[in-house]
Amino acid sequence: MEKISTDYLVVGSGAMGMAFTDVLLAETKANITIIDKHHQPGGHWNDAYPFVRLHQPSAFYGVNSKKLGNNSIDSTGLNKGLYELATNSEVCGYFDQVMQRQFIASGRVQYFPSCEYLGNGRFVSLISKDEYQATFKKEVDSTYMNVMVPSKRPPPFKIEGEANCTAINGLPDLKQQYSDFVIIGAGKTAIDAILFLLKNGVKPDSIKWIMPRDSWILDRSHIQPTLESVGKLFTNQIIPGAESKSIDDFFERVSKAGGLLRIDENIKPTMYRCSTVTKSELKELRRIKNVVRKGRVKIINDKEILLDGGSIPTTLETLHIDCAGDGLAKRPPKKIFSSRKITLQSVRTCQQVFSAALLGFVEASFEEDEKKNELCKPVPHPNSDIDFLRNTIADALNQESWINEPILSRWLEESRLNPQSHILKGSFAFKVLSIINKIPFIQLSNSALEAQARAQETIKQLLETEEVDNYTNSNKIN
Ligand SMILES: Cc1cc2nc3c(=O)[nH]c(=O)nc-3n(C[C@H](O)[C@H](O)[C@H](O)COP(=O)(O)OP(=O)(O)OC[C@H]3O[C@@H](n4cnc5c(N)ncnc54)[C@H](O)[C@@H]3O)c2cc1C
Repeated sequence: MEKISTDYLVVGSGAMGMAFTDVLLAETKANITIIDKHHQPGGHWNDAYPFVRLHQPSAFYGVNSKKLGNNSIDSTGLNKGLYELATNSEVCGYFDQVMQRQFIASGRVQYFPSCEYLGNGRFVSLISKDEYQATFKKEVDSTYMNVMVPSKRPPPFKIEGEANCTAINGLPDLKQQYSDFVIIGAGKTAIDAILFLLKNGVKPDSIKWIMPRDSWILDRSHIQPTLESVGKLFTNQIIPGAESKSIDDFFERVSKAGGLLRIDENIKPTMYRCSTVTKSELKELRRIKNVVRKGRVKIINDKEILLDGGSIPTTLETLHIDCAGDGLAKRPPKKIFSSRKITLQSVRTCQQVFSAALLGFVEASFEEDEKKNELCKPVPHPNSDIDFLRNTIADALNQESWINEPILSRWLEESRLNPQSHILKGSFAFKVLSIINKIPFIQLSNSALEAQARAQETIKQLLETEEVDNYTNSNKIN
């Protein structure tokens, strides 16, 4: 057994492990050892369907020290007018370059791909059977979020007889043509599968969409690193939200203003998982008229699809596409900094790489675990509509504690993974204002700040008065 000694032992070279390591390398003199089961960095991007792209701009994805893409604006396609979205292979190529040319080249990082971590510093090669024992000062667990893509697990329903079923990964490589397609799932993977079929000429009435729950969806034009996007967030989400009288009223107002989208305007969604679309993509998705809302699929056989709430006919000429399941499940929040262990989790909703980088900076800059945990409260991945409200408060509380720490607030101003930094860098006037006011964020007008505070107060009241677990109850840290 080979013995290794290291300061930090990072388990996982997915986007979070990479973003954390990158900041730790920049801010400390530590030696770092990274282990991963995959043969190259990038984590689940190695297993994703080949036509997947980032769902949010490349401008604020990846690691802090290296740009991903060119910050260009798409001039064609369904993302036209918005910041570019890296493809799957671009993301994997990017992380490989970061690993080879920055991490390993620094002389301070040892990388063990194709190795499985067994705990207590022990890991084994999945190829040669070599075994290793590491002694370390701290272990960094980047696997807790447990990302799961459909190609890496069996379908969460039974297939009987000769019924045809594939994971979304199989779509670009079909061995035959099918007369029609059934998409199973309501999340972003299902959306991507439908857009792929339509783009390849499949007629909308040849597609059936099994949607166990309807989802609130974010408008991607609101998640751009631009001032205009911040403006839209105010007019379409914050201001209407501040005026709401109940949780239902909140979603109605925000949806009417365009702050949240849904596939069918007549159905009240109960799910929210940070999926994003553009208005053009939504228009395409709405061409699918055959939407089945009978719960989850239990069994597919030669003639029928059996669901929680009934059954529908199918045929042997139909391809069923598994986009079901919870790729980014809501995990119980766990203390992030705990003596010799750091458990990477989101500290801003659906901003995993930003979160991991910020955790790296906090680890490098503060001494006491208690202080670090105070600054970094986990914000679990959302699942239900109510989580949209809970996470809004959770994000605001974290943000407030960050901007009160000058060193952290300076880092936020500079970090490319923080969308607001792009706005500051893009406008000389804002930069000057932020220096004069010692505020590293966009100077909002008083009325905007008031609206923001009012919206947060309204949401807190709604969560307290209505019969839901509020943020403090549901985000209890283990
Ligand atoms: C389709 C899709 C699109 C997305 N688009 C965006 C986007 O546009 N913007 C955004 O911010 N986020 C996006 N996300 C969220 C995305 O999950 C995160 O950005 C990020 O890639 C998650 O990285 P991770 O490191 O947490 O997990 P993973 O990628 O799963 O990495 C964990 C790694 O740990 C390794 N590992 C696990 N157990 C062990 C073990 N015992 N021993 C050794 N290694 C182990 C695994 O092999 C894996 O490589 C998207 C997610 C999906 C599924």
